[in-house]
Amino acid sequence: MNFRETLKINEKKHLEICNHDCVELAKKFGTPLYVLDEVNIRKISSAFKNTMEKEYGKGGVAYASKAFCAEAIYKIISSEGLFTDVVSGGEIYTAIKAGFDTSKMYFHGNNKTENELLYAVKNNIGTIVVDSLHEMTLIENICLKLNKKQNVLLRINPGVEAHTHHYVQTAKIDSKFGMLISNGDALTGIKKLLNSKNIIFNGLHCHIGSQIFDKNAFTAAIDVVTDFVKKCNIENIKINELNFGGGFGIYYTEEDPKFTCEDYCGYVAHIARCLSEAVERKGIEKPFLMIEPGRAIVGESGLTLYTAGTIKDIKNIRKYVCIDGGMFDNPRYALYKSKYEIVNASKADKNADEIVTIAGKCCESGDLIAENIKLPKNTESGDIIAVLSTGAYNYSMASNYNRNLIPPTVLVNKKCADYIVKPQSYEDLVRNDNIPDWIK
Ligand SMILES: *Cc1c(COP(=O)(O)O)cnc(C)c1O
Repeated sequence: MNFRETLKINEKKHLEICNHDCVELAKKFGTPLYVLDEVNIRKISSAFKNTMEKEYGKGGVAYASKAFCAEAIYKIISSEGLFTDVVSGGEIYTAIKAGFDTSKMYFHGNNKTENELLYAVKNNIGTIVVDSLHEMTLIENICLKLNKKQNVLLRINPGVEAHTHHYVQTAKIDSKFGMLISNGDALTGIKKLLNSKNIIFNGLHCHIGSQIFDKNAFTAAIDVVTDFVKKCNIENIKINELNFGGGFGIYYTEEDPKFTCEDYCGYVAHIARCLSEAVERKGIEKPFLMIEPGRAIVGESGLTLYTAGTIKDIKNIRKYVCIDGGMFDNPRYALYKSKYEIVNASKADKNADEIVTIAGKCCESGDLIAENIKLPKNTESGDIIAVLSTGAYNYSMASNYNRNLIPPTVLVNKKCADYIVKPQSYEDLVRNDNIPDWIK
């Protein structure tokens, strides 16, 4: 386990997050339950911001809210002085409801709809990250109609693709995101933006992957992008801002590095130093630098609590520990075979000495949370099972599959615990159901 000051095993031999015994949290709020550690979210957010200031100066950190989106998170992020990324009208709406300053929002997406763009421009979203020529036309028409000006960055594809522990650099990669540098598309895009009367072109954006541990991938992206900036400068095009996206790798299992908060800041420091060095070496004006971590801010800050139910032992084949959640609250194993560390929170001190598979309750054989992981031999029905590092891309990817209720989320700090997402009810499930007259 990647223990931290707010994640430990207590005297009762239970898992504890932020002074809250996980077994007690499960008793009080029920299971399945998402739990988020406010102390850790704030610690990482402010550390990222401070590292950016110290190592680079004129820059910012935007929280990629698709990792976990709810009003309370926007409150925390904004009070820590961060910007935010939004990727849909729904995320913009949620952020606005939480009082997030729209001028500190970056609006992303490869196919933003006309309505979403209209909503964004009307609400004075700070920056729209334009992805295609089609989108430029939409934004220009909206701005003309509303008589407004809109700041944009252009999302470019630098041809650097990062996968966890390695990266590849190719001349041309197949991606639905961004405009390629290598075939001239990006430059064409910039020229179109510069010709638009109501669009203010500010700079470039790229995001090269997720769960990246290999810092060389960022070095490579910075190198390609700053070469492109130089090329733009030769054509008298000024680049005020560079945004290198997110994708910082986090701890999920023993296969991953056990980063402390300071170690996580290493990603920010690396990008800051690499860019400073590159602009100096290439004689480019130092741009405003933005980064957009999502997973690194909330991932390890979250865990999910379940209650063990059926335990099915198929002798010499497999032992299933079935939980009261599954792919409806965490689809990442079913989608990507993502690995998780799992702890029996009721017996956290016991040696994890038996190989089991954690299965969900959905009608789908692929509804597993982890295969062949270790739990204590005496794990029994009623034990609280904790899946760690679920703060990112769990709640935000949850569904009502099988009409299961999406679990609530409880925010904890050293003193308090309360819902930031309340429990759903069966009534919520049928709220939008409609029976047309002719079948009544
Ligand atoms: C998903 C995404 C991020 C955040 O990625 P993480 O892996 O959660 O850090 C940042 N920027 C863009 C454009 C993204 O699509």
